[in-house]
Amino acid sequence: MLLGPPGAGKGTQAQVIAGQLGVPAISTGDIFRANVSGETELGLQAKSYMDAGDLVPDEITVAMVKTRLAETDAKGGFLLDGFPRTIAQAEQLKESLHELGDALDCVLELVVDEDELVRRLSGRRTLVDGQWVQRSDDEPETVRHRLQVYREQTAPLSGWYEAEGLLSRIDAIGAVEEVTQRALDALEACRGTRSDGPGAG
Ligand code: ADP
Repeated sequence: MLLGPPGAGKGTQAQVIAGQLGVPAISTGDIFRANVSGETELGLQAKSYMDAGDLVPDEITVAMVKTRLAETDAKGGFLLDGFPRTIAQAEQLKESLHELGDALDCVLELVVDEDELVRRLSGRRTLVDGQWVQRSDDEPETVRHRLQVYREQTAPLSGWYEAEGLLSRIDAIGAVEEVTQRALDALEACRGTRSDGPGAG
């Protein structure tokens, strides 16, 4: 699971790391955005929270992730990006994985200072139909609010997962490939320490 504030590069790293591991990258932000553009019931429920830079309620998010984890491509493992984001989500994830006789192997926290995050997010653009567009929640005021939501609701997960013995922190400033290498090294180390554990094999 990748933990880190908005703009830490979770999405970018998730794609590369999941590709290397041969598992799906599951991004709750991407699933929500796809539902908003597809104007589904879930998208309608999530949209106002996302536009405001607030978290979508745990109930909606957890149900969505459970459905996604039940799909066949997740049976051999998965990488979570952007979930869990609250202690309640983490507890419910732990419980539902436990029911399946499973558990997270490793949590990687991407560490980036806040000045760098604001700089990255306000400059972020994506190419859509040949045009560079800014995500509506990347506007400066919403960015500041998302960072505050992160500090208040998500940052406590760092200590929570540390207490679970799952956390590795990596410096996420530098070239994308450098950060990927740090992430893969940390993942190797934490999988190594768990290879003789109950989930071995
Ligand atoms: P970022 O990490 O840059 O904030 P994401 O794509 O992960 O971007 O999330 C975008 C928005 O989607 C969040 O601001 C929030 O509204 C919603 N969201 C994503 N994941 C969750 C989650 N686990 N719980 C609640 N809301 C979420």
